[in-house]
Amino acid sequence: MFEEFYTIAQSINNEYIAKVKEQGALCIGYTCSYFPEEILHALGIIPYRIKGLNVSSLSIADAAFGPFICSHPKCLLQHFALGDYSFLDGIIVTPGCDSMRRIDECIRKTAVNLDLPVVPPFFFHYAVPHKITEYSVKWLVEELHRFIDSVSAHFGLSFSYDKLKESIAFYNRLRKRLEELNALRIHYPARIAGADAVAVYVAGLSMPRDRFYGMMESLLSEYTGTALEDRKRLMLIGSANDDIDFIKTVEGETAVVVADTLCYGPRLEVDYVDEEDEPLHALALRYLNHSHCPRMYGGYKQRLAKVVEAIRIAQVEGVVLQNIRFCDLHGAENGLIERDLEKLGIPCLRLEREYGPLADNERMRMRIDAFLERLEVRRLVCERP
Ligand code: SF4
Repeated sequence: MFEEFYTIAQSINNEYIAKVKEQGALCIGYTCSYFPEEILHALGIIPYRIKGLNVSSLSIADAAFGPFICSHPKCLLQHFALGDYSFLDGIIVTPGCDSMRRIDECIRKTAVNLDLPVVPPFFFHYAVPHKITEYSVKWLVEELHRFIDSVSAHFGLSFSYDKLKESIAFYNRLRKRLEELNALRIHYPARIAGADAVAVYVAGLSMPRDRFYGMMESLLSEYTGTALEDRKRLMLIGSANDDIDFIKTVEGETAVVVADTLCYGPRLEVDYVDEEDEPLHALALRYLNHSHCPRMYGGYKQRLAKVVEAIRIAQVEGVVLQNIRFCDLHGAENGLIERDLEKLGIPCLRLEREYGPLADNERMRMRIDAFLERLEVRRLVCERP
């Protein structure tokens, strides 16, 4: 039932993108969940959340980025350098963090240094404020205008606010379906493995969204789920992750990831866009307030409160806080979350890991096994009459 989602999620290109491209559709990649896909959808462009999977070497990315940087953006660059993203008509780079911001200059530098045609025809640096204030929302509305003007002029497209409203309504319906899928994870006992749920989320970011919506509807109408009895219920927090094998490593045979705050997942809650508001203002408000990422300044207390709420709703027994090596944003925030959750009596495990060809899942497995033993002891103590 999930096979097709896995196939799409675990590859860079796929038959759905190829098919719409054959019919003349454009496809634009983006690097950060703070970009509103609704705008591309309204223009008839396929949005694609760029992934770093299946890279076997970082030879080119190491030279461009240098050694002390997160391996996730490095894997993205390696793919670009190898021509794996040549199906993209454009790319939108966001300074989600400093490592990801550098993708912008590193793609250009790689193109020059290696004399490769790896810079997509349309290239847009989409800046997002780090604070949520009245003036930052206003600023982001202007940035969205700048993007619409730029992409429309580049491809000779005409933008319509009516179409944007339709796309906003469509994405809200899609969010509802994602919420329904998430409810299967939260269910006690969970009715879907965390890895299967992540396969669906990641696939959804890699294919035409209308087609994905149809696949979601079929899945939700046919899938009754298998009760995953007696598994330790985990929450996964930290660096961006599109790697389903990592989720499988965390779950093993005895645990299930019932909640996460990860960048390629549904995050804590789905956050709808206000369909009554002026569309660009509504998008700016929704995407800025969608502040589960430590890139947003001054939002730690709200993020912690949402994590605690998710732990309560999903009946989480333990939290795995992971960060990719050199991911300072999540590395620093994970320390604070661990301190505050442990104070509340919620067991935490902090993991620093690698992504891509350097990934060391076996080492992770040993540490997770030890953590699951801690949770087992806790169960025995709590259940003792
Ligand atoms: S995982 Fe961390 S360092 Fe890496 S791209 Fe994401 S926020 Fe940046």
